[in-house]
Amino acid sequence: MKADYVIVGAGSAGCVLANRLTEDPQIRVVLIEAGGQDWNPYIHIPAGFMKLLDHKTVTWGFKAQAGDGREIIYPRGKVLGGSSSINGLIYVRGQPEDYDHWAQLGNRGWSWDDCYPFFKRAERWSGQGDGGEDDAHGKDGYLFTSEMEREPICTKVIEAGMQLGLEYREDVNNLPPNAPPSIGWCQQTRGGRRRASTARSYLRPALKRQNLEVVTKALVHRVIFQGKRAVGVEFSRGGRTERADANREVILSAGAVGSPHLLQISGVGDPELLGKIGVPVVHELRGVGRNMQDHYVIRCTYPIYGMQTANEKARGLPLVGEVLRYLTTGRGILTYSASLIAASVKILEESATPDVQISFAPGSFKDGQIGQLEEEPGLTGGPWQMRPLSRGFVEATSADPHVQPTINPRYLTEESDRRAVIGGLKLVRQIFHAPALAPYIGEERLPGAKVQTDDELLDYAKRNGNTVYHASCTCMMGQHAMSVVDDNLRVHGMEGLRVVDASVMPAVTSTNTNAPTIMIAEKAASLIKSAAQQRLAA
Ligand SMILES: Cc1cc2nc3c(=O)[nH]c(=O)nc-3n(C[C@H](O)[C@H](O)[C@H](O)COP(=O)(O)OP(=O)(O)OC[C@H]3O[C@@H](n4cnc5c(N)ncnc54)[C@H](O)[C@@H]3O)c2cc1C
Repeated sequence: MKADYVIVGAGSAGCVLANRLTEDPQIRVVLIEAGGQDWNPYIHIPAGFMKLLDHKTVTWGFKAQAGDGREIIYPRGKVLGGSSSINGLIYVRGQPEDYDHWAQLGNRGWSWDDCYPFFKRAERWSGQGDGGEDDAHGKDGYLFTSEMEREPICTKVIEAGMQLGLEYREDVNNLPPNAPPSIGWCQQTRGGRRRASTARSYLRPALKRQNLEVVTKALVHRVIFQGKRAVGVEFSRGGRTERADANREVILSAGAVGSPHLLQISGVGDPELLGKIGVPVVHELRGVGRNMQDHYVIRCTYPIYGMQTANEKARGLPLVGEVLRYLTTGRGILTYSASLIAASVKILEESATPDVQISFAPGSFKDGQIGQLEEEPGLTGGPWQMRPLSRGFVEATSADPHVQPTINPRYLTEESDRRAVIGGLKLVRQIFHAPALAPYIGEERLPGAKVQTDDELLDYAKRNGNTVYHASCTCMMGQHAMSVVDDNLRVHGMEGLRVVDASVMPAVTSTNTNAPTIMIAEKAASLIKSAAQQRLAA
């Protein structure tokens, strides 16, 4: 098998690249994915994501360290669409300052002004936005984006936030620079009643092209090098080992766990680690798998009286009604994301812009962990630090590609991250007790009245917090010793090898990471195409 570009991983980034590169009929692409087709119906029903977090066939089944010997499940999609097929569908770009920070770190072409056109190029928006000229959203792209349905109990959350001084923002994706603390409705990657994964949005429309070959259920074992040049990959499918050769480039889009893992088992990484797992060093690059960042959420739950929540709607006769409503109108709780409301607040004195995100959901889960909804009506608010300083790692533990690498985000290891979650938890309580919400809530279920002091709140956070699923930065872009790719996303010191996915972020964006990853892939496709044109012209 031979192509100009061999892309590893058909996830958020890989599907975008496969589509954009094959828009040029002269470019041949092979896209290799370890997972299978996205036929599971829970992928397509938005609220179905709750059934997929630990799913045997559409996730990798990873576990991660969460401190003090605690292990948590660490979902990553293993299916066409990758994590965009199993995620919570929230569509959010982050603060303009996130990208200006990337540029300030020395990454040319990655400021907000540089990235913004690629967010818009990606998008096919069906909502109203802020009702103004609405040029914050793209209308002609591939990625379906929509407004969230406005559940009545959530309007009370917004009123409560505003009573505490948060500014109401009609369009959370139209933030001015230096936006003040605010609250607003989340937006979704949804087209009609169905999830808009990148498999649906980008890959499907490209499948009929003769210059694109998609290989599924194929685990890439290693990148093949000639000297310092990547010339292809070796993969296994149906018990056979095969090879895909790249005339121009191998592009790793295997995600923030998969890409550094694959580099390490191919011989690119820290020589000490490669020595431990018995992999010969092809190229020393100490930053591979380092600098891992993730958001860490701690959920507070309250029982609700006098208003409906998703808990009761999701069982018995009301559920039958919801299913009918979904099928006939494409609305209702089956279209909901993990959260409906996002508040961006400022907790740390030293922060110039909001530093804690609080996600609110019109329901509550057993033990505060996404999965099984409680029976009685409930409401959840969960704070997480937008720009954590704690840094973790992804480390291969064996040369065998089937063996899971160690994933350790090292949550809350930095003092400011601990201060942020303690302050965030206190603010969540204040929002629940603001006049607009107070008449509807009962006694706090989680963390519960016994948890009061800072130490008790931190202890609760350590024992109950969980990933927001935003693994990133493990092949960070930059020009320094620990960076892995340059600002064209080419692996330092190598030829014919790029990384394009959430792993290249130099710092995690302040909110959810799917839209930023899709933007990165849109921008990368444009960089790759213009490099190819320059080569032809030379
Ligand atoms: C449960 C969950 C909920 C989330 N919720 C949200 C949300 O609501 N909003 C949001 O913005 N973000 C959310 N995220 C985060 C977001 O989805 C990810 O940041 C984004 O999808 C990452 O894209 P990626 O291209 O880097 O990796 P992925 O989309 O994970 O793609 C990597 C692909 O590479 C494949 N692969 C890996 N290794 C190999 C190999 N060796 N051989 C072949 N193929 C391989 C994988 O199977 C996968 O398909 C969520 C993530 C998860 C897991």
